[in-house]
Amino acid sequence: MSAMDLADQTTSVTRPLAQRPPAESVVARFVRYAAIDTQSAEDVATVPSTPTQWDLARLLVDELHALGAQEVWLSDTCVVYASIPANIDDAAAVPVIGLIAHMDTAPAVSGANVNVIIHSDYQGSDIVLPRDPTQVISVAANPVLKDMVGDDIITADGTTLLGSDDKAGIAEILTMVDVLRQNAQIPHGTIAIAFTPDEEPGSGIEMFDVERFAASLAYTVDGEGLGSIYNESWHARMATVTFTGRNTHPGAAKGILVNSVFALADYVSRLPRDMLPETTDGRDGFVHPARGTIEVAESVLVIGLRDFETGGLDAQERGLRDIASETRERFPDVGIAIKVEESYRNIQEVLKDHPRLVDNAVEATRRAGLTPTVEAMRGGTDGAHLTFHGLPTVDLFTGGHNFHSKQEFNSRRGLEKTTEMLIHLVQIVAGGADGRASD
Ligand SMILES: [Zn+2]
Repeated sequence: MSAMDLADQTTSVTRPLAQRPPAESVVARFVRYAAIDTQSAEDVATVPSTPTQWDLARLLVDELHALGAQEVWLSDTCVVYASIPANIDDAAAVPVIGLIAHMDTAPAVSGANVNVIIHSDYQGSDIVLPRDPTQVISVAANPVLKDMVGDDIITADGTTLLGSDDKAGIAEILTMVDVLRQNAQIPHGTIAIAFTPDEEPGSGIEMFDVERFAASLAYTVDGEGLGSIYNESWHARMATVTFTGRNTHPGAAKGILVNSVFALADYVSRLPRDMLPETTDGRDGFVHPARGTIEVAESVLVIGLRDFETGGLDAQERGLRDIASETRERFPDVGIAIKVEESYRNIQEVLKDHPRLVDNAVEATRRAGLTPTVEAMRGGTDGAHLTFHGLPTVDLFTGGHNFHSKQEFNSRRGLEKTTEMLIHLVQIVAGGADGRASD
């Protein structure tokens, strides 16, 4: 916490705050991590999907040691684990809180040579990114900017993403550790920390060792604007539609060749336009024809199905099969097969039995002088996997916006306030002073 940040507190803060600032500011820490390329890749069999993720992992191992963390361990699938020992007498009676962030950045946008720009004392205008002036973070598209006048906005230069998703989460967690180290008077139980690879392709969390992590409740610090707490994720399925044709030499193909590409195109053209990611928001689900391959003999289309209710997914699945029947009628010589697999489930199924997780986060957010909003995340995170593997996990804000894009941004206040919320959260879970017990 800087002196400025302490002065920034509202009256809703009921506890004495950290007296000493961290050895390194959360902004400086974040800028260091953002400079390291950790872009992950889809459809790679190895974990991590890109070797560069090891660079950040090894750095974090060193920094955790330097910050006094115990049991620091880098697994052979590039998960960094560490533990911060409790500083209270009855630590065994207090739940171990897990804090998790991911090291990789999205496969879709370059994360190499990220050039972080700090727009000091932002005055409320559109932000034109210098290396590509077509990249404009406009107030119209980002109304949150209206509340950020006077803050220092943090962006990339227009050629890459920023990587606030999720290096902000890493910087915030480690700055919290730094502050706890400087301020032994802040009571906390044992804190389990993990930094994971390949959150974006979704493969990194598969090898997460929940038992070794040994937390009884956890938070991913991987959400968006200040105050957002996510207690729901999608129910998600993946449909693979395979179109089988017949190939032959095109010079002698008359009456023989059956081109599956046309059937795929017909199928795509029949998908309802009002059920796509680009045409839905709020609690409405979508179907997302995300990728595929086209060849005469076989074309494959991969479609993501998303809804907050399983009934909604069932309806989407029926719709996709109905469309297959229509395409089959038009292309009777093409074989069409649909395979649907579950990707992940809505964390609310489990979290509804652990209301304290959200309550703690709401209280910590209030104590940081912010307004908490509990919302459904139009996505899934590592937390969904953990929640269904015995570790109930809620996702918390990072202060970041416009994830997976060159217009991604965060701010000094975003990073500092999230850190402050985490410092309150560990105290609340420890039940110290006016803290509350937790499940
Ligand atoms: Zn993320």
